[in-house]
Amino acid sequence: MHRIRFLRLMSVLSLPGAVFAAAPGRTRVVATTTDAASIVRAVGGDLVTVESLVEGIQDPHTLAPTPSLMLKARRAEVLFKIGLDLELWLEPLLEGARNPGILPGRPGHIDLSRGIRPLDLPVRLDRADGDVHPYGNPHIWLDPLNVRRMTRTVEEALSRIRPDESETFAGNREGFVRRLDEALFGRTLVEAAGGDRLADLLDSLAWERFLEQTVADGRGFGNLLGGWLGRMRPARGTAVVEYHGTFAYFAHRFGLPVAGQIEPKPGIPPTARHVHDLTGIMREGDVRIILSTVYYETEVPRRLAERTGARVLVLPTSVGGTEETTDYLTLMETMTHALSGAVMPEAPHE
Ligand SMILES: [Zn+2]
Repeated sequence: MHRIRFLRLMSVLSLPGAVFAAAPGRTRVVATTTDAASIVRAVGGDLVTVESLVEGIQDPHTLAPTPSLMLKARRAEVLFKIGLDLELWLEPLLEGARNPGILPGRPGHIDLSRGIRPLDLPVRLDRADGDVHPYGNPHIWLDPLNVRRMTRTVEEALSRIRPDESETFAGNREGFVRRLDEALFGRTLVEAAGGDRLADLLDSLAWERFLEQTVADGRGFGNLLGGWLGRMRPARGTAVVEYHGTFAYFAHRFGLPVAGQIEPKPGIPPTARHVHDLTGIMREGDVRIILSTVYYETEVPRRLAERTGARVLVLPTSVGGTEETTDYLTLMETMTHALSGAVMPEAPHE
Protein backbone atom coordinates (compact mmCIF):
# COMPACT_ATOMS: atom_id res chain seq x y z
CA MET A 1 0.00 0.00 0.00
CA HIS A 2 2.69 2.46 1.08
CA ARG A 3 4.84 1.33 -1.74
CA ILE A 4 2.10 1.96 -4.29
CA ARG A 5 1.50 5.41 -2.87
CA PHE A 6 5.21 6.12 -2.96
CA LEU A 7 5.50 5.03 -6.58
CA ARG A 8 2.52 7.14 -7.53
CA LEU A 9 4.09 10.15 -5.82
CA MET A 10 7.34 9.49 -7.65
CA SER A 11 5.62 9.41 -11.00
CA VAL A 12 3.88 12.70 -10.26
CA LEU A 13 7.13 14.28 -9.18
CA SER A 14 8.95 13.09 -12.28
CA LEU A 15 6.32 14.55 -14.64
CA PRO A 16 7.64 18.10 -15.09
CA GLY A 17 11.09 16.80 -16.02
CA ALA A 18 9.55 14.60 -18.69
CA VAL A 19 7.80 17.50 -20.39
CA PHE A 20 10.59 18.30 -22.80
CA ALA A 21 13.84 18.27 -20.94
CA ALA A 22 16.51 16.61 -23.06
CA ALA A 23 16.11 13.07 -21.76
CA PRO A 24 19.44 11.39 -22.50
CA GLY A 25 19.33 8.96 -25.41
CA ARG A 26 15.92 10.12 -26.58
CA THR A 27 15.23 11.67 -29.95
CA ARG A 28 13.08 14.79 -29.73
CA VAL A 29 10.03 14.42 -31.94
CA VAL A 30 7.25 16.84 -32.66
CA ALA A 31 4.05 15.39 -34.12
CA THR A 32 1.36 17.61 -35.58
CA THR A 33 -1.51 15.67 -33.98
CA THR A 34 -2.03 13.42 -30.97
CA ASP A 35 -2.75 10.53 -33.36
CA ALA A 36 0.58 10.95 -35.14
CA ALA A 37 2.21 11.25 -31.70
CA SER A 38 0.61 8.01 -30.52
CA ILE A 39 1.84 6.10 -33.58
CA VAL A 40 5.38 7.52 -33.24
CA ARG A 41 5.43 6.57 -29.54
CA ALA A 42 4.36 3.02 -30.37
CA VAL A 43 7.37 2.59 -32.67
CA GLY A 44 9.89 4.86 -30.95
CA GLY A 45 9.24 3.57 -27.43
CA ASP A 46 11.83 4.70 -24.86
CA LEU A 47 14.06 6.14 -27.57
CA VAL A 48 11.84 9.12 -28.37
CA THR A 49 10.23 12.04 -26.59
CA VAL A 50 7.12 13.07 -28.50
CA GLU A 51 5.13 16.27 -28.25
CA SER A 52 2.05 17.03 -30.31
CA LEU A 53 1.01 20.44 -31.56
CA VAL A 54 -2.77 20.02 -31.88
CA GLU A 55 -4.65 18.66 -28.88
CA GLY A 56 -7.15 15.84 -29.25
CA ILE A 57 -10.08 18.15 -28.49
CA GLN A 58 -9.07 20.63 -31.23
CA ASP A 59 -9.90 20.76 -34.92
CA PRO A 60 -6.68 19.58 -36.60
CA HIS A 61 -7.30 21.85 -39.60
CA THR A 62 -7.23 25.07 -37.62
CA LEU A 63 -4.47 25.91 -35.21
CA ALA A 64 -3.06 29.30 -34.32
CA PRO A 65 0.74 29.05 -34.68
CA THR A 66 1.64 30.58 -31.32
CA PRO A 67 5.23 31.25 -30.17
CA SER A 68 5.06 28.39 -27.67
CA LEU A 69 4.12 25.94 -30.47
CA MET A 70 6.93 27.36 -32.63
CA LEU A 71 9.30 26.72 -29.76
CA LYS A 72 8.24 23.06 -29.62
CA ALA A 73 8.98 22.77 -33.34
CA ARG A 74 12.30 24.61 -32.97
CA ARG A 75 13.63 22.06 -30.48
CA ALA A 76 12.57 18.96 -32.43
CA GLU A 77 14.98 16.78 -34.41
CA VAL A 78 12.18 15.35 -36.50
CA LEU A 79 8.61 16.31 -37.36
CA PHE A 80 5.82 13.87 -38.22
CA LYS A 81 2.70 15.18 -39.91
CA ILE A 82 -0.48 13.43 -41.09
CA GLY A 83 -0.18 15.14 -44.47
CA LEU A 84 -2.63 15.59 -47.39
CA ASP A 85 -2.75 19.19 -46.21
CA LEU A 86 -4.61 18.37 -42.98
CA GLU A 87 -2.27 20.81 -41.22
CA LEU A 88 -3.13 24.03 -43.07
CA TRP A 89 -1.30 25.97 -40.36
CA LEU A 90 2.01 24.13 -40.63
CA GLU A 91 3.78 26.43 -43.07
CA PRO A 92 3.53 29.62 -40.97
CA LEU A 93 4.38 27.62 -37.87
CA LEU A 94 7.55 26.23 -39.44
CA GLU A 95 8.50 29.67 -40.72
CA GLY A 96 8.37 30.94 -37.16
CA ALA A 97 10.15 27.90 -35.75
CA ARG A 98 13.35 28.56 -37.75
CA ASN A 99 14.46 24.94 -37.61
CA PRO A 100 15.80 24.08 -41.09
CA GLY A 101 16.14 20.36 -40.30
CA ILE A 102 12.37 19.82 -40.16
CA LEU A 103 11.36 21.87 -43.21
CA PRO A 104 9.54 20.12 -46.10
CA GLY A 105 11.98 18.14 -48.23
CA ARG A 106 14.43 17.65 -45.36
CA PRO A 107 15.06 14.23 -43.75
CA GLY A 108 13.49 15.53 -40.53
CA HIS A 109 10.11 16.23 -42.16
CA ILE A 110 8.05 13.04 -42.37
CA ASP A 111 4.69 12.76 -44.13
CA LEU A 112 2.63 9.90 -42.71
CA SER A 113 0.19 9.95 -45.65
CA ARG A 114 2.94 8.57 -47.90
CA GLY A 115 1.76 5.41 -49.64
CA ILE A 116 -1.82 5.77 -48.46
CA ARG A 117 -4.67 5.80 -50.98
CA PRO A 118 -6.72 8.95 -50.34
CA LEU A 119 -10.51 8.86 -50.34
CA ASP A 120 -12.73 11.68 -51.67
CA LEU A 121 -10.24 12.95 -54.25
CA PRO A 122 -11.78 16.13 -55.67
CA VAL A 123 -12.36 16.38 -59.39
CA ARG A 124 -10.48 19.67 -59.51
CA LEU A 125 -7.30 20.18 -57.50
CA ASP A 126 -7.96 23.60 -56.03
CA ARG A 127 -9.37 25.28 -52.96
CA ALA A 128 -12.48 26.55 -54.74
CA ASP A 129 -14.99 27.94 -52.24
CA GLY A 130 -12.59 27.25 -49.37
CA ASP A 131 -12.48 23.44 -49.64
CA VAL A 132 -10.00 22.27 -46.99
CA HIS A 133 -9.50 18.81 -48.55
CA PRO A 134 -7.85 19.72 -51.88
CA TYR A 135 -5.69 16.55 -51.99
CA GLY A 136 -8.42 14.16 -50.90
CA ASN A 137 -9.63 13.38 -47.41
CA PRO A 138 -6.76 13.71 -44.90
CA HIS A 139 -8.47 12.01 -41.91
CA ILE A 140 -6.58 8.83 -42.75
CA TRP A 141 -5.81 7.66 -39.20
CA LEU A 142 -9.34 6.40 -38.58
CA ASP A 143 -8.70 3.34 -40.76
CA PRO A 144 -6.52 0.89 -38.77
CA LEU A 145 -5.02 -0.49 -42.00
CA ASN A 146 -3.71 2.99 -42.79
CA VAL A 147 -2.16 3.13 -39.33
CA ARG A 148 -0.48 -0.20 -39.99
CA ARG A 149 1.22 1.43 -43.00
CA MET A 150 1.99 4.61 -41.07
CA THR A 151 3.94 2.58 -38.49
CA ARG A 152 6.19 1.41 -41.35
CA THR A 153 6.86 5.03 -42.37
CA VAL A 154 7.69 5.86 -38.74
CA GLU A 155 10.02 2.86 -38.42
CA GLU A 156 11.88 3.80 -41.60
CA ALA A 157 12.23 7.44 -40.55
CA LEU A 158 13.47 6.69 -37.03
CA SER A 159 15.86 4.02 -38.33
CA ARG A 160 17.38 6.53 -40.75
CA ILE A 161 18.00 8.94 -37.88
CA ARG A 162 19.31 6.26 -35.51
CA PRO A 163 20.51 3.29 -37.57
CA ASP A 164 22.03 1.60 -34.51
CA GLU A 165 18.57 1.30 -33.00
CA SER A 166 16.78 0.02 -36.10
CA GLU A 167 16.23 -3.42 -34.59
CA THR A 168 14.55 -1.90 -31.55
CA PHE A 169 12.24 0.17 -33.77
CA ALA A 170 11.41 -2.90 -35.88
CA GLY A 171 10.63 -4.89 -32.73
CA ASN A 172 8.47 -2.11 -31.29
CA ARG A 173 6.57 -1.87 -34.55
CA GLU A 174 6.02 -5.59 -34.71
CA GLY A 175 4.66 -5.63 -31.15
CA PHE A 176 2.31 -2.73 -31.82
CA VAL A 177 1.05 -4.16 -35.11
CA ARG A 178 0.35 -7.45 -33.34
CA ARG A 179 -1.76 -5.63 -30.73
CA LEU A 180 -3.47 -3.61 -33.46
CA ASP A 181 -4.27 -6.74 -35.50
CA GLU A 182 -5.67 -8.54 -32.46
CA ALA A 183 -7.80 -5.52 -31.61
CA LEU A 184 -9.02 -5.24 -35.21
CA PHE A 185 -9.63 -8.89 -36.12
CA GLY A 186 -9.76 -10.59 -32.72
CA ARG A 187 -6.97 -12.74 -31.33
CA THR A 188 -8.45 -16.08 -32.45
CA LEU A 189 -8.60 -15.08 -36.08
CA VAL A 190 -5.08 -13.58 -36.00
CA GLU A 191 -3.77 -16.86 -34.56
CA ALA A 192 -5.63 -18.87 -37.20
CA ALA A 193 -4.76 -16.81 -40.27
CA GLY A 194 -1.91 -14.37 -39.45
CA GLY A 195 -2.12 -10.59 -39.22
CA ASP A 196 -0.33 -9.73 -42.48
CA ARG A 197 -2.54 -12.07 -44.47
CA LEU A 198 -5.68 -10.70 -42.82
CA ALA A 199 -4.64 -7.12 -43.51
CA ASP A 200 -4.06 -7.94 -47.20
CA LEU A 201 -7.40 -9.73 -47.46
CA LEU A 202 -9.37 -7.01 -45.69
CA ASP A 203 -8.05 -4.51 -48.21
CA SER A 204 -9.11 -6.72 -51.13
CA LEU A 205 -12.32 -7.92 -52.75
CA ALA A 206 -11.60 -11.41 -51.43
CA TRP A 207 -12.41 -10.53 -47.80
CA GLU A 208 -16.03 -11.69 -47.70
CA ARG A 209 -15.18 -14.89 -49.56
CA PHE A 210 -12.38 -15.54 -47.10
CA LEU A 211 -14.78 -15.19 -44.14
CA GLU A 212 -17.01 -17.87 -45.67
CA GLN A 213 -14.14 -20.35 -46.00
CA THR A 214 -14.34 -23.33 -43.71
CA VAL A 215 -11.64 -23.99 -41.13
CA ALA A 216 -10.68 -27.52 -40.04
CA ASP A 217 -13.32 -27.92 -37.33
CA GLY A 218 -16.16 -27.05 -39.66
CA ARG A 219 -16.52 -23.42 -38.62
CA GLY A 220 -15.84 -20.59 -41.05
CA PHE A 221 -13.18 -17.92 -40.58
CA GLY A 222 -16.15 -15.57 -40.17
CA ASN A 223 -17.02 -17.32 -36.90
CA LEU A 224 -13.56 -16.53 -35.59
CA LEU A 225 -13.83 -12.84 -36.43
CA GLY A 226 -13.73 -10.69 -33.30
CA GLY A 227 -12.28 -7.34 -32.33
CA TRP A 228 -13.48 -4.09 -33.85
CA LEU A 229 -14.52 -5.73 -37.13
CA GLY A 230 -16.53 -8.40 -35.33
CA ARG A 231 -18.18 -5.81 -33.11
CA MET A 232 -19.02 -3.55 -36.05
CA ARG A 233 -20.24 -6.33 -38.34
CA PRO A 234 -23.93 -6.07 -37.34
CA ALA A 235 -23.75 -2.32 -38.05
CA ARG A 236 -22.56 -2.80 -41.64
CA GLY A 237 -24.79 -1.09 -44.17
CA THR A 238 -26.14 1.42 -41.63
CA ALA A 239 -26.21 4.79 -43.38
CA VAL A 240 -24.81 7.75 -41.47
CA VAL A 241 -24.54 11.50 -41.90
CA GLU A 242 -21.41 13.18 -40.59
CA TYR A 243 -20.60 16.77 -39.72
CA HIS A 244 -17.35 16.90 -41.73
CA GLY A 245 -15.39 14.28 -43.68
CA THR A 246 -13.74 13.15 -40.44
CA PHE A 247 -15.33 9.69 -40.46
CA ALA A 248 -14.75 8.81 -44.14
CA TYR A 249 -12.00 6.21 -43.59
CA PHE A 250 -13.67 4.77 -40.52
CA ALA A 251 -16.98 4.44 -42.38
CA HIS A 252 -15.23 2.91 -45.39
CA ARG A 253 -13.42 0.30 -43.30
CA PHE A 254 -16.45 -0.74 -41.28
CA GLY A 255 -18.97 -0.59 -44.12
CA LEU A 256 -21.11 2.39 -43.11
CA PRO A 257 -22.44 4.26 -46.17
CA VAL A 258 -22.08 8.04 -45.71
CA ALA A 259 -25.29 9.69 -46.92
CA GLY A 260 -24.00 13.24 -46.57
CA GLN A 261 -22.20 15.91 -44.57
CA ILE A 262 -23.62 18.76 -42.53
CA GLU A 263 -20.95 20.97 -44.08
CA PRO A 264 -21.78 21.66 -47.73
CA LYS A 265 -18.04 21.43 -48.49
CA PRO A 266 -15.15 20.47 -46.19
CA GLY A 267 -14.52 23.44 -43.90
CA ILE A 268 -17.57 25.44 -45.03
CA PRO A 269 -20.19 26.05 -42.29
CA PRO A 270 -23.68 24.64 -42.92
CA THR A 271 -26.23 26.84 -44.70
CA ALA A 272 -29.99 26.69 -44.17
CA ARG A 273 -30.44 25.52 -47.75
CA HIS A 274 -27.95 22.67 -47.35
CA VAL A 275 -29.46 21.54 -44.04
CA HIS A 276 -32.88 21.53 -45.70
CA ASP A 277 -31.60 19.33 -48.54
CA LEU A 278 -29.85 17.04 -46.09
CA THR A 279 -33.07 16.65 -44.10
CA GLY A 280 -34.73 15.36 -47.26
CA ILE A 281 -31.88 12.94 -47.96
CA MET A 282 -32.00 11.63 -44.41
CA ARG A 283 -35.77 11.12 -44.41
CA GLU A 284 -35.70 9.42 -47.77
CA GLY A 285 -32.81 7.14 -46.87
CA ASP A 286 -34.02 6.57 -43.28
CA VAL A 287 -30.66 7.73 -41.87
CA ARG A 288 -30.72 7.20 -38.09
CA ILE A 289 -27.23 8.30 -37.07
CA ILE A 290 -25.53 11.71 -37.22
CA LEU A 291 -21.82 11.53 -36.44
CA SER A 292 -20.03 14.54 -35.08
CA THR A 293 -16.88 15.11 -33.14
CA VAL A 294 -15.96 16.90 -29.93
CA TYR A 295 -14.83 20.19 -31.50
CA TYR A 296 -17.89 20.98 -33.67
CA GLU A 297 -20.88 23.11 -32.67
CA THR A 298 -23.87 21.04 -31.57
CA GLU A 299 -26.78 23.25 -32.64
CA VAL A 300 -27.16 22.19 -36.29
CA PRO A 301 -26.78 18.44 -35.59
CA ARG A 302 -29.39 18.76 -32.82
CA ARG A 303 -31.87 20.53 -35.12
CA LEU A 304 -31.29 17.98 -37.86
CA ALA A 305 -31.89 15.18 -35.38
CA GLU A 306 -35.14 16.77 -34.22
CA ARG A 307 -36.40 17.03 -37.77
CA THR A 308 -35.50 13.49 -38.80
CA GLY A 309 -35.67 11.45 -35.61
CA ALA A 310 -32.01 10.49 -36.02
CA ARG A 311 -29.61 10.30 -33.11
CA VAL A 312 -26.49 12.49 -32.72
CA LEU A 313 -23.34 10.68 -31.71
CA VAL A 314 -20.51 12.98 -30.66
CA LEU A 315 -17.37 10.87 -30.72
CA PRO A 316 -13.69 11.55 -30.11
CA THR A 317 -11.87 11.28 -33.45
CA SER A 318 -8.36 11.86 -32.12
CA VAL A 319 -6.31 10.50 -29.25
CA GLY A 320 -7.09 12.70 -26.23
CA GLY A 321 -10.52 13.65 -27.61
CA THR A 322 -11.97 12.24 -24.39
CA GLU A 323 -10.35 11.17 -21.14
CA GLU A 324 -10.36 7.45 -21.91
CA THR A 325 -8.82 7.79 -25.38
CA THR A 326 -5.21 7.77 -24.24
CA ASP A 327 -3.71 6.13 -27.33
CA TYR A 328 -4.70 4.90 -30.78
CA LEU A 329 -6.04 1.55 -29.59
CA THR A 330 -8.31 3.08 -26.92
CA LEU A 331 -9.52 5.66 -29.46
CA MET A 332 -10.70 2.96 -31.87
CA GLU A 333 -12.05 0.93 -28.97
CA THR A 334 -14.17 3.89 -27.85
CA MET A 335 -15.40 4.69 -31.36
CA THR A 336 -16.42 1.13 -32.26
CA HIS A 337 -18.12 0.60 -28.89
CA ALA A 338 -20.14 3.79 -29.18
CA LEU A 339 -21.18 3.14 -32.76
CA SER A 340 -22.08 -0.51 -32.43
CA GLY A 341 -24.02 0.32 -29.26
CA ALA A 342 -25.94 3.09 -31.02
CA VAL A 343 -26.78 1.01 -34.08
CA MET A 344 -27.70 -2.20 -32.27
CA PRO A 345 -28.76 -1.15 -28.76
CA GLU A 346 -29.95 -4.67 -27.91
CA ALA A 347 -27.04 -6.60 -29.39
CA PRO A 348 -24.53 -7.89 -26.87
CA HIS A 349 -21.09 -6.50 -27.56
CA GLU A 350 -17.96 -7.25 -25.58
ZN1 LIG B 1 -11.04 17.61 -42.72
